[in-house]
Parts: sequence; C-alpha cells; structure tokens
Amino acid sequence: MNNTSKSPSEEAVSASSRPGINDAKKRPYNSHRNGPRHYKNGSKPSASAKKTEESAAAAKPQTQKSAASKPQHANGKHPANKKAAGHGHANKPALKPNAPALPMQSSKAKVLPTDTQIYALGGLGEVGKNMYCYEHGNEIAIVDCGVLFPGDDLLGVDYVIPDYHHLIRNNNKRKVLVITHGHEDHIGGIPFLIKQVNIDAIYAPRFAKALIEKKLAEHRDAPHVPIIEIDENSAVKTRYFSIGFFNTIHSIPDSLGVLINTPNGSIVHTGDFKFDLTPIGQNADYQKMAYIGVLQPDLLMSDSTNSGVDGFSISEKDVSKEILRIMNSVSHRLIVATFASNVYRVAQIIEAAIKTGRRVAVFGRSMENVVDIGRKMGVIKIRNDQLLSPDELRTTPDRKVCILCTGSQGEPLAALSRIVNGTHRFIHLKPTDTVVFSSNPIPGNDASVNKIVDKLFRSGATVLNKSVLNNLHTTGHASKQEQKLMMQLIKPRYFMPIHGEHKMLMQHRQSALELGIPASNIFVCANGDVLLLRNHEVIQSDWRYQGDDIYVDGNDISGLSTAVLKDRRILADNGLVAVIVPIDSSTNRLLAKPVIVSRGFVFLKDAQALLREAEFIVSTNLQARLKERTTFADIKNCIRSSLEPFLYKKTHRNPIVIPVILNSRKAMEELAAQHRNRMQNRKPGYHRNKPHENKE
Ligand SMILES: [Zn+2]
Ligand SMILES: [Zn+2]
Repeated sequence: MNNTSKSPSEEAVSASSRPGINDAKKRPYNSHRNGPRHYKNGSKPSASAKKTEESAAAAKPQTQKSAASKPQHANGKHPANKKAAGHGHANKPALKPNAPALPMQSSKAKVLPTDTQIYALGGLGEVGKNMYCYEHGNEIAIVDCGVLFPGDDLLGVDYVIPDYHHLIRNNNKRKVLVITHGHEDHIGGIPFLIKQVNIDAIYAPRFAKALIEKKLAEHRDAPHVPIIEIDENSAVKTRYFSIGFFNTIHSIPDSLGVLINTPNGSIVHTGDFKFDLTPIGQNADYQKMAYIGVLQPDLLMSDSTNSGVDGFSISEKDVSKEILRIMNSVSHRLIVATFASNVYRVAQIIEAAIKTGRRVAVFGRSMENVVDIGRKMGVIKIRNDQLLSPDELRTTPDRKVCILCTGSQGEPLAALSRIVNGTHRFIHLKPTDTVVFSSNPIPGNDASVNKIVDKLFRSGATVLNKSVLNNLHTTGHASKQEQKLMMQLIKPRYFMPIHGEHKMLMQHRQSALELGIPASNIFVCANGDVLLLRNHEVIQSDWRYQGDDIYVDGNDISGLSTAVLKDRRILADNGLVAVIVPIDSSTNRLLAKPVIVSRGFVFLKDAQALLREAEFIVSTNLQARLKERTTFADIKNCIRSSLEPFLYKKTHRNPIVIPVILNSRKAMEELAAQHRNRMQNRKPGYHRNKPHENKE
C-alpha cells in the first residue's frame, strides 16, 4: 500500500478492508494485509521496505552494498505523499490521485473537509510508540509521542518510532503536542519528532515536563519548542480544539486523561491509567470523569494493556506494606530490583529502607535519573546523608544497606545483571544477600529473568519474586474490571481501544460489548487508519495514512531499511564470505585463482578443504562463463550462483556472499611484482600500491 508500483485495485483493497472489526464477520482475516493483528512489536516492516526486501531477495545475488543503500522510505515516492499533498490543499477529500474511484463499502466514508479526523501513527497493535492525532481543518492536536523498544530480532536498532511523514507533509498546519505522562512509550520520540515536524508547543504535566527537558538537553541539535506545564485544571485552546484534563492513577506521578472538544463532538482519551482505591500519590478524578459522562462524550479511547487480566489489580498500598515487611524481616544486605519507570514504587522502596534504618545505594542510569528528578519534584524523599556512595558501601554494615537497581527484566547490561555476573565495579554478591524483584517479567523476558534468578540461587543468595503468595508487584494499567469502570464513568457512544497489541485491543472490545456498546460502534484500528468524527457520529473512513515503523540506529532517524536488518540477521546467523576474483576485462580472462575469505561462517582451520573446493568450483564456473561476453553483473551472478548452493549443501548455512572483482591486468602485475619483492626482501612497511578495485 505504500508502493507506487502497486495496482490501484490492490490499494483500494488495503484501504477499504482495514481494521475490519465491524466487517470482521463479513470478511475473514485471510489476507496478510487485512488485519493489523499480525504486526508484532516493532517488527512490522513497512510495505515499501518489504517490497525492497522481496525485490532484494528476488534479485539476489546482489551486493550487500546495493541492498543496503536502498532507502526504506523513498521519500516522495509514497502514494501517501501525493495524497498528503492533495490533502494539504484546502482539505480536499483525501483521494488517491492514481486510484480510480472504486465503489467503497457503505461503512467506509470519504473524508469531508468538515470532518474531524482521528488516527494513530503508533500505539495500535503494539505496546509502545504511542501517538494519536486529531486533525481538523488546518490544525492537528497530537497526544503523546513515544518510542518502542525493539525486540531481539531488530539487530542493532536502538528505538522504533512512528513514521512522521504525514505530519512532515503537513508542516504548514498548526500543531500542538499534548503529553499524558512521562513514560518513554509516550515521550521518547519527542527529540526525533521536533527535529522534523513543526510543533507550536508541547503541553506536559509536571513530572513529564522534567523528564522531557532532561531528554532534550541530551539532544542539543533539536530546535527549541516551548514546553508548557499543565495539570488537571489546565485548558489548551486552539481555533478548533479545546482540550481539558483529568487526573488518573498510573505508576508515574502527574498522569492525565484528556478530554478533546472538536467542532464535531468530544473525545475522551484516557492515557495510561488504572484505578486504585488506596493509591500512593495522586488520586483519580472520579467526580470529573463521572461529570464528563453526564455531558455524553461521543468517543472513548482507552488503555488496553491489561485487558486480558481479570478482576481488579492489587493496590499499590499493599505492595508497599509487603516491601516494608521484607525490609523488617531481613537482617542482611538487601538488593531490590524494579522498573525505573515505576516512580511510586521507587519512592516506596526508598521510604521503607529509611524506615528500617538502611541507607540506599542507587545503581543503573535510568534509576539514578528517576531518583534525581523524583527528589527534585518532591515525589521521592531522601536526604543526601541517607544515600550511599559506592565508596561508603564497603564500610557500611550489611544490615544498614539497601541497593536499589535496574535490571528486573534480566536486561544484560543493567546493574543487576552485572552484579550477578560478577562484573559490577562496586557490588559483589554475598551468600547472605537477599534479592527482591519488585516487578513481573514482561512477557518475552521470562527466559532472561530466569537466567538471572538461577545465577542468584547459585551464589547462595535468597531470592524473592512476585508470586500469588505475595504482593511484591502490581501493574500500572487497568485490568478488565477497571477498564469497565472507566467505560461506566465516561459512558461513551463510540469506543476505540488503544495502547495495546491487537489481542489486547480485541479483548478490550469484548469488555465494551459486555457493557452493551453495539459492535458497530466499536473500532479496533491499526496505525494509520482514519476514523471520522462527523456531527457526533464516528465513521470509518476509506482512507489511511502511513503507519509504518522507523528504526532508529544511533541518532540516525532517516529510517533503516529492512534490507539492512535482513543483512544483519544473515551476518549474525550465517556470516560472510567474500570472493576476490582478479580478471582482465580486455581479454575476458581470469588472472589468478579466486581467493575466498570468510568471517563468522566456518572455523577456518577446520574448513580449509571446503574453501579450496569452493575456490575450485568458482574458478571452473567462471572460466566457462568468461568464454562468452560478460558484464561485471554476470560475473557476480555467476560467483553467487555457483557458490551459494555449494556452501548450503556443505554447511546448511546461507552466508552473505560478496564478490569482489579486481579488474586490471597492470594492477595485478604490480601486485605480483610486489609479492615477489616482499618474498625477496621480507622487509615490513614497504609502500603498497593498491590495485584498482572494481566495485561497480
Ligand atoms: Zn505509562
Ligand atoms: Zn504507555
């Protein structure tokens, strides 16, 4: 759907058959394009990238260089580009210029200039990179701007961010960014966004504002955008939008729900929330939520993270009691690992430590960060003399020490992993240590957490995990009953589950159905799908924006091609084989035997015979091929097609094969002469003439 070469009918299919919840019964989810459900976190390649990948695969043999140089997003080539251009023109209905007017289903409406558009560029079908947009006329109100942390399959990728191209193309429109709270999946993308997209102002609650300012200080090249502090009493007014807020409970202070009034009706956007009748810190604005319900908002967009979890979540108060109980009962050194993002938990652990006469040593960059900002904000209360420096650790008796660290998910570089592996500069495990995990392994991290726990047991330490028997952890997100309570308070006519993988969105939809919201009023969307708010009615539009993933590698935000990642994966799994072939193109002759060099492919010492055989095969095939007229591409193809099947047959591996053709008789002769000289003189450090290397 992002490639111009695609036929118009294909385009229409992908545009009209999207999120399909309302049509789920009519249309089976069989096409790989149709459902958003198959998009795994961060691993969804853009269609254009996929195309690149496919063509790269089809065109294989191909050099690594040429595969890598294909941009994932051929800027200016996307149909969405053209579309946005059309869209920019005085809000014309978004029509694809090339697509013939195909009959759309009655449930999919064309975009009218008077509609308010609602779409996510990230956050649907994934937990991460949340970014929800409300567009009316020449204004776009954006709620949240997050990153997603990539899984192990995205080698070398630091973050995944949404594709901002739709916003870049609409840089002439007025844009405000509203932040619900300070978690990375809501603020992490800000530096990348403001470098590319004009934003009038960022409105953020107090704690998030401090975190954003800290983040932006590390990105000095980012343009200055005013950050305006908001709270539950603030109002953000633009020409078309009037935005209000209400307090919610979450694992970080100052998290807000958002009420967005548009010319077509009102939308409640919960942000991340849970309900906790005995919360630590800020309480939820139950009265305000109920009052919003009285005003009959049109659409509720609600956090789906825990829609698969039954019941009501444990109160944070119970967790803090449990932590205090453990601190009291343990008479040696305590090591507590938790999420740095759970600011209230960090505060509780520190409070309990101080209460039980311990001093606290904080390890791990994100944990130090949070403690630092939390102290400044008054959320975390600890005096300087109650903190332990690494030097003081050695001289302080164990029963007076609490080490607070990152790494509760078994992250290999986090403080806890280094402690367990014996590579931490200051802390070495003792058999008397008690290690507390005040966390739950996030699905997918179980294996690495288990590994850490196993090593802890080997060291003789006592390990305390969250289990059904204790209250060592609770979530920051509403479970099923709390989600239903939110729906009961807000009483929306239309419902759209957000913030979650497709399964979570679908389970949240089920809860909405149980509450009597008709199926036709529930919209399970994918990133990029456009809903229309038109005179208090929510309609699925026939249009979608680009909702792709952009991989951030270091500070490069140009977007890594999936072909690059594919190459990295092949390199990691199978290694690399380079074939150096000296030829004389004037006589079409091999000047010497091909030389094969490999890295990460086979253990060279054991594989000499294999490589010699491979060289022989390449040599024989090339000589046959060179009897005819050839191009360099032919020669490269010949090398790959003779080598790849052979290597696979022998090793059951598919390394990346890189042919290097040296095409200069003279250079070869010089090289040979040098070789002779070297043999005669055996003097190191002589001048070396590089032969001309033809890389095409
Ligand atoms: Zn959050
Ligand atoms: Zn979140």
